[in-house]
Amino acid sequence: MDKRDKLLEVKNLKKYYPAAQKQQLKAVDDVSFDIYEGETLGIVGESGCGKTTCGKTCLGMYGKTDGEVLFRGKDVHLMNKKEHFEFTKKVQMIFQDPYASLDPHQKVYDIIAEGIRIHKMAGSRQEENRMVAELLEMVGLNAEHALRNVHEFSGGQRQRIGIARALSVNPEFLFCDEPISALDVSIQAQIVNLLMKLQKEKGLTMLFIAHDLSIVKHISDRIGVMYLGKMVELTDSSKLYSNPKHPYTKALLSAVPIADPDTSAKKERIVLKGDVPSPVNPPEGCRFAGRCEKCMEICRKKAPRITEVEEGHYVACHLYNKDKEGVK
Ligand code: SF4
Repeated sequence: MDKRDKLLEVKNLKKYYPAAQKQQLKAVDDVSFDIYEGETLGIVGESGCGKTTCGKTCLGMYGKTDGEVLFRGKDVHLMNKKEHFEFTKKVQMIFQDPYASLDPHQKVYDIIAEGIRIHKMAGSRQEENRMVAELLEMVGLNAEHALRNVHEFSGGQRQRIGIARALSVNPEFLFCDEPISALDVSIQAQIVNLLMKLQKEKGLTMLFIAHDLSIVKHISDRIGVMYLGKMVELTDSSKLYSNPKHPYTKALLSAVPIADPDTSAKKERIVLKGDVPSPVNPPEGCRFAGRCEKCMEICRKKAPRITEVEEGHYVACHLYNKDKEGVK
């Protein structure tokens, strides 16, 4: 599959909410990126940075304030009823909290069969039974689990049920919204490995949101780092870890635990001072200026634009000011 075939194009997307005293909360502010077919794009950042709002706006779950989101060239926010119905089949979501996203009193069978019925994917009840059984096996459960209620399952098993529900309609694109952050650490890796296996087997394209860089490292082909509604760095996963450029990315990476105690002891930890400013009336210049060790005079006056500083490596920081602009 050609990595350069774009499945999703996000262009200058803005999502603002009205706030007190006629101000605006700028949850997503002029963000652009593409997602190529078959790749996993990870988006990371502290809570409140706009990553989930960005994902949900891309899926048309939230209206946009400005900009464009194209899925296979079609504007997600301008689809007619029929196009939107097809879109809901192609694009599915894995939710953060499987305790909240699945009705505990519902039968597993009904949860998984719902999408199959809505999109008329089975020709008979027998075929529907077979499809539900196959989906359960695919996510590491078994056909007998179909007849049990959701409350009989652990958090990890419930997330597997959520994944089976998402896959039931044969989607092309999965939006994974912090799918492991509500789970025990001991089972987080199992769910990540399952998603990676399914992505490979089914050729899925994924947007994977997380607040922690250690989680997205293994699953993502490319990673975008968001800070206060802005994309501040975007590049290949390996480049981001080996050669991070934005001071915020460097700080996030310095907090990622290293298993080897010798390497860990040598690692310099960058402790960020201060808190993330409010997205209501964010600072005029660089939004990271108040916490950045490298802050210069220009940083407080002028917001840096995201620019391509090396091939496929985009950074929004005055330290790397170049003329080329735009994100691909
Ligand atoms: Fe730091 Fe300035 Fe770069 Fe912002 S633009 S991250 S304040 S150096």
